[in-house]
Amino acid sequence: MAKITLDNLAHSYLPGATREEDFALKELNHDWNDGEAYALLGASGCGKSTLLNIISGLLRPSQGRVLFDGVDVTDAPTAARNIAQVFQFPVVYDTMSVRDNLAFPLRNRGADPTYIANRVQQIARMIGMEEQLGRKARGLTADAKQKISLGRGMVREDVNALLFDEPLTVIDPHMKWELRTQLKSLHHEFGHTMIYVTHDQTEALTFADKVVVMHDGRVVQIGTPEELFERPDHTFVGYFIGSPGMNVIPARVEGRTAHINGSEVPLGHGYGAPGGKVEIGVRPEFAELTENDGLPVKIRRVEDVGRHKIVRADFFGTELNVIAREGQEIGPDMTRVRFDPARINVYANDWRIAPEGGQTGPTGEAA
Ligand code: ADP
Ligand code: MG
Repeated sequence: MAKITLDNLAHSYLPGATREEDFALKELNHDWNDGEAYALLGASGCGKSTLLNIISGLLRPSQGRVLFDGVDVTDAPTAARNIAQVFQFPVVYDTMSVRDNLAFPLRNRGADPTYIANRVQQIARMIGMEEQLGRKARGLTADAKQKISLGRGMVREDVNALLFDEPLTVIDPHMKWELRTQLKSLHHEFGHTMIYVTHDQTEALTFADKVVVMHDGRVVQIGTPEELFERPDHTFVGYFIGSPGMNVIPARVEGRTAHINGSEVPLGHGYGAPGGKVEIGVRPEFAELTENDGLPVKIRRVEDVGRHKIVRADFFGTELNVIAREGQEIGPDMTRVRFDPARINVYANDWRIAPEGGQTGPTGEAA
């Protein structure tokens, strides 16, 4: 196991690139702590696989260094990095049995046969393939082959890190949940450094201690699920995480007041007079419908999703969503939306502005 350091890292697939937009991965400095479970979350094409492949050594970065426990491995081949990586699609030896596929990484390293037999049995149980150990991989479904790939990724206990690149894409929904739970318990048991790539926020938030959110080649925030919910550092984090995502409304901010289309919205903190593209962000959970207080809206739709209702409203062409508690009546007079001032974040050019009086969170606690 190792701490992984990314030092001044960036990557462009175009040789000699200098323009920022030509970089699939923008400059990044980050330590992945030894033994921590991370999710790398972002939309398709944002650079997740690029970053993962640089860490595993499949790709050499065009700028910067990768260090394992302080040792520069930027030019070390994948094999020398002692990493297990599982990809989106199965990588198995078709002519080998399931057992031999699972045993391969251990035999390759000259492990003791009794240990191999026990470990393979244990892994087969985790992936639910004990019954098929004797079968050849050829002829198995894509789903089963991917489980073998996952098993091969998990079989070695002595790796520096486990990297998963959207490994459950071809797995059926029920098994997905089960395998994710297995991966989590594997992490608790062995404490490997794990990086799990996904574009699915639920998967990321349930798997990881820390979520690394990427957008357009850039890491926009690293935080616990709670931090990403309470204090999105970037508007993208606000609307990518949450369902529905954070409301983002153009505003002019002056001190503790946001001026929005002729209305004044009180803020929980002071912000001076920020320039640039200024917006306020507030999650639907912290907005409520009222009869006479707040921004005037037109209600478009009410979706009953069981535990609560999602009210889809329109505010001068901007979609504004409110989560209403179960059982709350939504009468025809409720045409205004009020926000909890303490839960409003302020953004300038998409990045969150720290309120005046120090780095405090929206609920007033020290961040
Ligand atoms: P993700 O895994 O988040 O979907 P990728 O890391 O695969 O994103 O891709 C990031 C960007 O780099 C995309 O614009 C993609 O088209 C580009 N890209 C990925 N691989 C290559 C490659 N081998 N050559 C050129 N461009 C690539
Ligand atoms: Mg990818």
